[in-house]
Amino acid sequence: MLCEMMEYTDSFIVTWLAIAVGAILLNFTVSGPVFYFYYWPSQVTFEKWQFKSNTKFPTPAKVRDEIVAMMKGVLCAALCPALCLYLARHGMSKAYCGWGGYSILHHASMFVFIVMVSDFYEYMYHRLGHTNFKFWDFHKHHHVFYNPSPFAVVADEWVDQFMRALLLLVLPIVMPINIDVMFSIYAIQFYGYGVYLHWGYESPYLSAHNRFVNTSFQHYCHHAKSLMNTPYHCGFHFKLWDQMFNTCYPKEKCFCAECSRNKGERTKEAFEKIKIPDYSELFSWKMWSCYFV
Ligand SMILES: [Zn+2]
Ligand SMILES: [Zn+2]
Ligand SMILES: [Zn+2]
Repeated sequence: MLCEMMEYTDSFIVTWLAIAVGAILLNFTVSGPVFYFYYWPSQVTFEKWQFKSNTKFPTPAKVRDEIVAMMKGVLCAALCPALCLYLARHGMSKAYCGWGGYSILHHASMFVFIVMVSDFYEYMYHRLGHTNFKFWDFHKHHHVFYNPSPFAVVADEWVDQFMRALLLLVLPIVMPINIDVMFSIYAIQFYGYGVYLHWGYESPYLSAHNRFVNTSFQHYCHHAKSLMNTPYHCGFHFKLWDQMFNTCYPKEKCFCAECSRNKGERTKEAFEKIKIPDYSELFSWKMWSCYFV
């Protein structure tokens, strides 16, 4: 798909804009429905709420700020894939389209390689944002959203967004990479999983206490508890890196929805006391005017 785009335009600006617009559309079409089914007052039920990590809901103003940060972040993140395509078109990288003469086994192992290398890189860069003051200065903007919604996946400052997308530029320079496979992994695998991590709810099919996979609770815990010098659960897909570098939140202090249910805290009475904001405010001009006047 992206390979075909290279045939239509030679302009870096047009490529960057096309990728940015495509990414923004992808963000709204994936995060939008998830937000509607799990945050809109008419859709939130007691049964669903029992699996919500934070019992409360973010204010419409916070969701608005997530959306603005997400759009700004995407404009910056799109620079890396646009540069990657530009270099590929001008024969300055090892990126290729289609099968490139390689077997299906080669492509399968490349898929695993890209996911694992990206996951490790994301962990190391994310942890740096919590252990180095210079990087925390950029990363703290993601932590403004201490009770995030699915719109917060890429609600980062521009430096963070650029650095997170950097492998899209670097990998095809250092090794032969099928760019359609690489871009699909980032658009589907990483964005899709990012929406799950910022869902705000925990799946009944994947316990937060499992040993291998980073769940939405770990990322909620990250937003709620991690600040400068407290890098809890910086991982993305796998718990492995947090376990290796000892950055897991203490198990005995777990406050996931499962533990909360087990303590008998998720009662119907508690649910009835929860006020769900009227998110239809997000469609009013008044809500957005602060960004323009
Ligand atoms: Zn963080
Ligand atoms: Zn996050
Ligand atoms: Zn727990």
